[in-house]
Amino acid sequence: MNKKTIRDIDVKDKKVLVRVDLNVPFDQITGDISDETRIRAILPTVNYLLENNAKIILCSHIGRPKGQVVDSMRLTPVAKRLSGLLKRPVTATTDCIGPDVVAATGNMVSGDIVLLENLRFHAEEEANDPDFAKALAALADVYVSDAFGTAHRAHASTAGVTKYIPSVAGFLIEKEISMLHNALDEPKRPLTAIVGGAKVSDKITLIDKMLEQVDNLLVGGGMVSTFLRALGHDTGASLVEPDKIDLARRLMDKAKANNTNLVLPSDLVVADKFDREANAATCQSDKIPADSMVMDIGPKSVSAYSDIITKSKTILWNGPMGVFEWDNFANGTTSIAKLLASLDAITIMGGGSTSEVVDSMGLADKMTHVSTGGGASLKLLEGSVLPGLAALMDKD
Ligand code: ADP
Ligand code: MG
Repeated sequence: MNKKTIRDIDVKDKKVLVRVDLNVPFDQITGDISDETRIRAILPTVNYLLENNAKIILCSHIGRPKGQVVDSMRLTPVAKRLSGLLKRPVTATTDCIGPDVVAATGNMVSGDIVLLENLRFHAEEEANDPDFAKALAALADVYVSDAFGTAHRAHASTAGVTKYIPSVAGFLIEKEISMLHNALDEPKRPLTAIVGGAKVSDKITLIDKMLEQVDNLLVGGGMVSTFLRALGHDTGASLVEPDKIDLARRLMDKAKANNTNLVLPSDLVVADKFDREANAATCQSDKIPADSMVMDIGPKSVSAYSDIITKSKTILWNGPMGVFEWDNFANGTTSIAKLLASLDAITIMGGGSTSEVVDSMGLADKMTHVSTGGGASLKLLEGSVLPGLAALMDKD
């Protein structure tokens, strides 16, 4: 990574404003934090700053409060959990700027930790308002970006703030960027991408870009039907993006021209309606019954994809193979996840749903890297510049 990190600057006795991603999920019924992965993910950076005697001011958003104070989206429970993990006090403030925050951060000593209230309680955060960014920057001497999950957004706390104080990357950002770059820049081949999810339109840029880099591209998910239509097959009652059929055809042509092995499923699991309890049936991809819709890749496809995956040295996965949320249509996705977890190869997961599957199956530790940022990892794989990263200081 060509950006400075916290290792490259002196943080001793400095006030360090750290943008982290503490956008944790809460249990609908108990209101407790249901997954603390994102809290644990910031520990390396926080611990480094503690060891180096910094004064730590953390800031984050939770959810989409749209510029309003929403009690269920306060960061107070996160401060409590973080304090438990660090075994030291974490002071939660009632706002992220203003006189109370200035007071709470005014007399910090090295080793103190303050967690600011939800940044998105102010509409100025997402609007990247310069005065709001300036007010955040005024709290600290140095800025550290460690919120990979929001690095693809140019918000006040991810981009705006960097105009006013020296700005470097934290360890989570560094890890995310280097994992994805290592996998793509000089990959161990064969390099295989597995791309799934709901729609072609979400993944066009990714597929387009991957076709220039990978040896194999395996397609799954709802977008399969748009590709099948491009091949001239009937897709029954499946959801198709009619305006993307031409594009799917062009992607297949590009694969041929680049000698990339673009693979569609040869069989499918289909259903008579889009429902958890729908009847599941298996069919050939070119023989989808008129009243049926594509819900998952079929068992022959799982086996064909598994052969290709097993022979690969690097595998990137973005997007589930089917409607994995419903048991009848989860087999394609869970089979691929189990296989990837069993391999010695470099295995990298990006995408919100994809990471969720791997986490919920308890397989995250068995993968080389499971990205903490769905949208951000997609942007990075697409080759786009992340505004929250671009704004940081370059290495000398
Ligand atoms: P990711 O978050 O990993 O990038 P996406 O957001 O692109 O993945 O897509 C995830 C969603 O795609 C899941 O909710 C899943 O149910 C849905 N999906 C997968 N296969 C199908 C299908 N055949 N039909 C409809 N939806 C599908
Ligand atoms: Mg998603």
